Amino acid sequence: MNPIVIIGAGAAGIAAARRLQELERPYVLVEAKAFTGGRCVTDRATFGSPVDLGAHWFHSPAFNPLVPLADRLGVRYAAEALRGRYHRDGSWLTDADQTACENYLEAAFDRIAAFAGDVAIKDLFPDPTSPWHDAFLAELRAKQGVTVEESSSRDFARYVWKGDDLPVTGGFGTLLAKLADGLNIRTATPVSRVDWSGRNIRITTPVGTIDADRIILAISTAVLREGIDFHPSLPDWKQRAIDDLPLGSCNKVALRFTVPVFGDCPASLVLPLRGAHEAVEFVLRESEAEIATCLINGPFAKELAAEGAAAMTDYALARLADMFGSGIKKWVSPQQVIADWDHDPFIRGCYAAARIGHADARAELAIPIDERLFFAGEACSVTYMGDVHGAWLTGTAAAEAAAAQ
Ligand SMILES: Cc1cc2nc3c(=O)[nH]c(=O)nc-3n(C[C@H](O)[C@H](O)[C@H](O)COP(=O)(O)OP(=O)(O)OC[C@H]3O[C@@H](n4cnc5c(N)ncnc54)[C@H](O)[C@@H]3O)c2cc1C
Repeated sequence: MNPIVIIGAGAAGIAAARRLQELERPYVLVEAKAFTGGRCVTDRATFGSPVDLGAHWFHSPAFNPLVPLADRLGVRYAAEALRGRYHRDGSWLTDADQTACENYLEAAFDRIAAFAGDVAIKDLFPDPTSPWHDAFLAELRAKQGVTVEESSSRDFARYVWKGDDLPVTGGFGTLLAKLADGLNIRTATPVSRVDWSGRNIRITTPVGTIDADRIILAISTAVLREGIDFHPSLPDWKQRAIDDLPLGSCNKVALRFTVPVFGDCPASLVLPLRGAHEAVEFVLRESEAEIATCLINGPFAKELAAEGAAAMTDYALARLADMFGSGIKKWVSPQQVIADWDHDPFIRGCYAAARIGHADARAELAIPIDERLFFAGEACSVTYMGDVHGAWLTGTAAAEAAAAQ
């Protein structure tokens, strides 16, 4: 009996492998990179304390299956959400303005949730006059990785997001690495071709071929589209679902300062409001170190990353200087942590956002082909898309479906 081959050791692939191991079914998990975790990776080497290059928060912690796993494995996470503060035109928002801004955001998200059709989110706000609309544009880019012009209202309305977002202070990548411990994994084994023309499915890698009866594809939609040669090609309905779920952009820069520079700023999440194009936020002082992690979202993130690491660093430092004074520049340490997911050949973006009118593509993507090719990953989740727990649950479901055949 050939094993079930899982391609991609991110959250979905690891969840699938753990489920097959529990079911005592032969499997092998094949990963292109030298390490597992996919979009969940923690850097400890650069600053000596954990910095997440990708996912960092438990969303919807009350029903997030990774929370009890973190408890069991002793991976730390914060008990409360980070306190946020907006900054605009050289000053922090007053408490009253901050409340007005938060109320506007809540009402804007409620409007999307209440709308039954599938239009560009921009069309739900035909003539925004509120001074807080740019905060909404930035927040949406952070959640979707794309602009309101590109976001499907139905796709976003289906997203379930409840309770506070809890930072995984011990490292989300650390958690995933622990969850992958003891699994049958072949790292540094990129799959270049999947031949499903015969009875066996033949998988080609630089270190040889593997035959499988069934496979689980747990890779991003961008890699599904361009990274693997399928023979024969995937059917049109599947290819359409993949094309209707392009990835957005979210990249990161973490900077460490050699002296305390954030003063008595009470917030641990600071958000400069810089108009429609630049959607940026900073997490401050994690692990009690003087580190600022900058998240840059949407098309601007990709443009900046294309200019290189120095441009990303300069940008993050300039925004911190806007908020904390240009004097901080002399205290920045020479090392940075840079995450450019757009130009990572095995990911190619941050998370999938459905094209307008195509919110059902997620359910289509999750449908197996021929009961032999199964699909998993964040893009397959209809309610927790873009999230690690969404990917995790689709991995478990794909493993159960593949094992049932
Ligand atoms: C900057 C950023 C911040 C985020 N923040 C959060 C957050 O706070 N909370 C949250 O819940 N989610 C967050 N997310 C989203 C979350 O990280 C993803 O939704 C989730 O990790 C995706 O998991 P996955 O298993 O679907 O795919 P991936 O993690 O992409 O895993 C796919 C794996 O397949 C491998 N692979 C690709 N091609 C091949 C090949 N040819 N052969 C073999 N292997 C291959 C890749 O190397 C990768 O390891 C964030 C993402 C980013 C980029």
